[in-house]
Amino acid sequence: MEISEVALREVRKVYGRHLALSSVSTRFAPGELALLMGPNGAGKSTLLGILSTLSRPSGGEIRYGEHEHRYAEEHLRGRIGLVAHAPMLYLQLSSRENLAFFARLYGVARAAEEVERWLARVGMLEAADKPAGELSRGMAQRIALARALLAEPELLLLDEPFTGLDREATELLREELAAARAAGKIVIVVSHELEAVDGLASHLVVLRRGRVAKELREPALSAARIQESYREALA
Ligand code: ADP
Ligand code: MG
Repeated sequence: MEISEVALREVRKVYGRHLALSSVSTRFAPGELALLMGPNGAGKSTLLGILSTLSRPSGGEIRYGEHEHRYAEEHLRGRIGLVAHAPMLYLQLSSRENLAFFARLYGVARAAEEVERWLARVGMLEAADKPAGELSRGMAQRIALARALLAEPELLLLDEPFTGLDREATELLREELAAARAAGKIVIVVSHELEAVDGLASHLVVLRRGRVAKELREPALSAARIQESYREALA
C-alpha cells in the first residue's frame, strides 16, 4: 500500500476572507473507518475536497504515506476514490459507459470485466444502458459508488453517501464500507445518519467552525455512542 496513513497538520483553508478550516490536525489509518460530523458550514466538504486532491489547502501539511499533498494528484491517481454530493457522471452516457470510461482513465486491468462485476455488485445490471441523466438519485448514487470503488482505491472519501438511498441501497453501502475497512483501506465518511452508520466507524471526528471539536477512537462506534459524543462536542 502506498498510502500507509493520511496525516494532517494544522490544515487551513480560506475562501477570500472566509476561514473554512482554521487548523485541522489528525490522522487516518488503514483499516479504520472515520466518521466526520459537524453542523452545516463546519468545513466537512471542504476537508474531503482537499483530501481528494481536488482542492489545495491554504496552509498546513498533509501527507499520504510518503507523499506530500502537492504531489499526491500525480503519484496517487486512482488510489483515492471520492463519492461527492453530486454523482459526477456524464449524463448522456449510460451507467455502463460511465464505468468503462473511468475504468480506462484509472488504468484498471480487464476493464470490461470489472465494469460488469461492479454493475452486478451495486445491483445496476438491468439499468446499465440507461443514460445516467435519467437515473433516480439512489441509482446514480450506486453508480457513483461503483465508479469510486472500481480502481480499488486505498483511500475512500464519501460525502453524505446515505442521502436519498432506500433501505436496500443503504444496506449495500454499509456492506461495501465494512468490506473496504476489512480490506485495510482508509475510509472517511461524512454522515449524520446515525442508524445507517451504527457499528461501522472506529474513529469519530467532530468539526465545528473549521476546527476539530472532538475526536474519539473505539473499535465499533454505536449510534448511541456517536450521538452522545456529538452532543458533548457541540455543547
Ligand atoms: P460543510 O460541508 O461542513 O457543511 P463546507 O465545507 O461546505 O461545510 O463549507 C465550509 C465553509 O466554507 C462554509 O462557510 C461555506 O460557505 C464556505 N465555502 C465552501 N466552499 C466555498 C467556496 N467554494 N467559496 C467560498 N466559500 C466556500
Ligand atoms: Mg457538506
